[in-house]
Amino acid sequence: MLSNRRDFLRNSALLGVAAISPVGAVLGKDFSGKPPKPVATVPSPVDTYTVSTAHIGHSPVSPRQIVIPDVEGFKVLKGDFHMHTLFSDGSVMPKDRVAEAVTNGLDVISITDHIEYRPFFSKVGRWKLADDQANNFNLWYEVALPEAEKRNLLLVRGAEITKTTMPPGHFNALFADDNNPIAAAVDDWREMLRIAADHGAFLFWNHPGWEAPKSGGIEKGAPLRFTAIHEEIYKKGWMHGIEIFNGKQYYPVVSDWCNERELALFANSDIHPSEFDQYGVQNPLRPITLVLAKERSVESVREAFFAKRTIAWAANIVWGSRTWLTALFKASVGIKTITPGTLELTNTSSLPVVVSMGGATVELPKEKHCQVFCSNSVRNITVTNWIVGMNKPLEVPLNT
Ligand SMILES: [Zn+2]
Ligand SMILES: [Zn+2]
Repeated sequence: MLSNRRDFLRNSALLGVAAISPVGAVLGKDFSGKPPKPVATVPSPVDTYTVSTAHIGHSPVSPRQIVIPDVEGFKVLKGDFHMHTLFSDGSVMPKDRVAEAVTNGLDVISITDHIEYRPFFSKVGRWKLADDQANNFNLWYEVALPEAEKRNLLLVRGAEITKTTMPPGHFNALFADDNNPIAAAVDDWREMLRIAADHGAFLFWNHPGWEAPKSGGIEKGAPLRFTAIHEEIYKKGWMHGIEIFNGKQYYPVVSDWCNERELALFANSDIHPSEFDQYGVQNPLRPITLVLAKERSVESVREAFFAKRTIAWAANIVWGSRTWLTALFKASVGIKTITPGTLELTNTSSLPVVVSMGGATVELPKEKHCQVFCSNSVRNITVTNWIVGMNKPLEVPLNT
């Protein structure tokens, strides 16, 4: 990672001067009081060091197909709601995030650049922006939107509230009607969360295991705790979900926290380099948040979030509430009795499914019929990699 960053900075230094003028052109300088109208072109000097192969029109990479059947009338959308671009400390442009998501078979993303930390495109960053652009914290969304519309990807307005101490740590604000009033309260995190909530934001606690050095945050080796400050945030209605998985980290206790407080679970990439650098192309281990939505629209995603209909999927593990994981299992896995004592299980989805029945553990690859022998006394299937509480796998009753 360090060598990437060094290469990136070296290339940036070479390209920095050339990049200044096209940025103004990208973001639209003349908008006479109206919001800037984003245009699809991005500065070519910046593009030259982005590594995403996905946005090249004639790329040989075909999009990853992730098949998940509808669940009780809901469409299951695939999303990633935490990612960074050059508008904070990521190393690709917003339109690259769109292209990467399409290649990875996602339906919906949110670009959540840091409000507090913008070393590249900003007033004081490597590439200086004029005041109207530097103070526009919707910029990454506005720049990505035309590309998302062109490629039929749903794009949710987002930003990361990034405090250097834990608590409160980092929160993503999604679906606010405007990120600028949130950013204007930057010196007071309570105000930021309050204003975000007032502007309709769905707020979730990012990487709860994160600890800033010397911050007095969560101690290594100690069980993660829901601190008094996080309890306060939750009680004030400023926390609607938590990441159970971020990047490469898993926080098992979040399963219980979400059950106890009816919060939505998330698995997000929090990606900073290009996806190619971090995961390769079409990486099956990419964290994905599944959204059980009434239809494939941004408004339906918002409704589903507040109704807590999310399921997290990463590293071949699936997390969710017992209700929605049971429904997802029934929609995805067919069970047929072949002869007394022999069941045939067929996973029709792309989800990883490992079941255990009466001592036998079987992996169910997509579209493969697997026959399992079990005595009539077996009443439950244990889905060992689908988790409904801290270290608690899903149990599905057998209707025999
Ligand atoms: Zn963060
Ligand atoms: Zn982040």
